[in-house]
Amino acid sequence: MRHLTDSLATEPDTAQAHLKWVNTFAGLGPGFFSELAPSPLPSPYWVGRNRAHARELGLEEHWLESAEALAALTGNQPLPGARPLAGVYSGHQFGVWAGQLGDGRALLLGEIETPLGPQEIQLKGAGRTPYSRMGDGRAVLRSSIREFLCSEAMHGLGIPTTRALCVTGSDAPVRREEIETAAVVTRTAPSFIRFGHFEHFSYRNQPEQLRALADYVISRFYPACRDARQPYAALLQAVSERTARMMAAWQAVGFCHGVMNTDNMSILGLTIDYGPFQFLDAFDPGHVCNHSDEQGRYAYNRQPNMAYWNLFCLGQALLPLIDNQEDALAALESYKTVFPDALQARMRAKLGLPDEQPGDKALIDSTFQLLAANRVDYTIFWRRLCGLSTQSGHEPVRDLFFDRESFNAWLLQYSERIAPVDSALRADLMLKSNPKFVLRNHLGEEAIQAAKLKDFSQVDTLLALLQAPFDEHPGQDAFAGFPPDWAASIAISCSS
Ligand code: AMP
Ligand code: MG
Repeated sequence: MRHLTDSLATEPDTAQAHLKWVNTFAGLGPGFFSELAPSPLPSPYWVGRNRAHARELGLEEHWLESAEALAALTGNQPLPGARPLAGVYSGHQFGVWAGQLGDGRALLLGEIETPLGPQEIQLKGAGRTPYSRMGDGRAVLRSSIREFLCSEAMHGLGIPTTRALCVTGSDAPVRREEIETAAVVTRTAPSFIRFGHFEHFSYRNQPEQLRALADYVISRFYPACRDARQPYAALLQAVSERTARMMAAWQAVGFCHGVMNTDNMSILGLTIDYGPFQFLDAFDPGHVCNHSDEQGRYAYNRQPNMAYWNLFCLGQALLPLIDNQEDALAALESYKTVFPDALQARMRAKLGLPDEQPGDKALIDSTFQLLAANRVDYTIFWRRLCGLSTQSGHEPVRDLFFDRESFNAWLLQYSERIAPVDSALRADLMLKSNPKFVLRNHLGEEAIQAAKLKDFSQVDTLLALLQAPFDEHPGQDAFAGFPPDWAASIAISCSS
């Protein structure tokens, strides 16, 4: 029989998280971080909650509804068992060695056991740390909503990423180009270790710490490397391969990260640190989404090379642990095959080709060229292409092109290739590979403007769509349309 007191245990305000903390990163020792508590924010409120992720983490059902969670995830109240710390790392920013950086505004609360395996919980925007340099340790509402939604959008797209559990806000003012308000994103990942962590200890000539860090990463995340002839070269190769697959996923979906500095590169090949990112609207290979990136270093079509450059920085950092340079270079070499193979596989799926045939690379290249020449909306093109030869026919696709003759020529080539493929099978593969919904800049912007007026409903709506971006979601076509004219004038900089 249920007792009345049973329901008290799940009463929102008394809910307990019952988190099982393991905190293995803290075991690396004091050279890797500074322990400190988050700085509280006044009168926090919920901005967005990811209940699906709460369930995946095995959190108590009502915990995300509780005052305890609101306080704890804003950094206003400690969670029993957590051991908050800011990690130290360095990095190359825009191609230049930047020296020590570190968690300037993120605090790792610790690591918990979950059904997904151990997960670290981090509060981004939780106040100043010893690594804040000139910064205020805060994150603004605008950038926090963008990170929250984009993490989950990427996950919904099947792209490796850090996750986001929630965003809380406060009316506390934060100075950027103008005065904004503060927010905290709760992020989760198996680890937030970056290439820059390795660079930090390598450049400081601290081989023992470098080795301890590499051994930690190998034992927890790359156990197969332990048995390799050269474990640290094997680690470099494994990271190169994961990074290559992540880059293929970005390019295929038209994602621009914007700040691919080595301190923003995850050792687990996860998309991390969402700042001035953008999903392409019109297909422009040279598109630069970060208005602070004047050289276009991180343009869409340069991203794969920039990832490779970053892997060289990681290789350089690991050299003291790898017996000879040839082994390091050989480990990096794998990127050159894994990236193109993974990209081709993703593009074949987008085209609805279940197997690989000799002319496929040429077909994929000519598709990219055609889209670029006509500045076609990237997401809409692929989604409309799913309907080719089914109910909607090829007119909706053709309508996207001003150069109809080139389109017709391409269509002929494509039609020949897909002729032997079962059309139901092809449509099914394509609908699973070409999202209807991506987090376009203007969608994020509209949700942000409403949130600034304390209407968080669009954050919820977008979260639900982006978590299942391949589904039709009848009645929500307004979120799958062309960007409005004003979208072109949204300027996204590093300021966050
Ligand atoms: P990002 O390029 O945004 O990933 O940040 C680069 C570095 O600057 C990291 O060390 C961040 O922790 C730090 N940082 C960025 N914004 C702030 C801020 N408002 N306060 C303190 N540190 C910051
Ligand atoms: Mg960063």
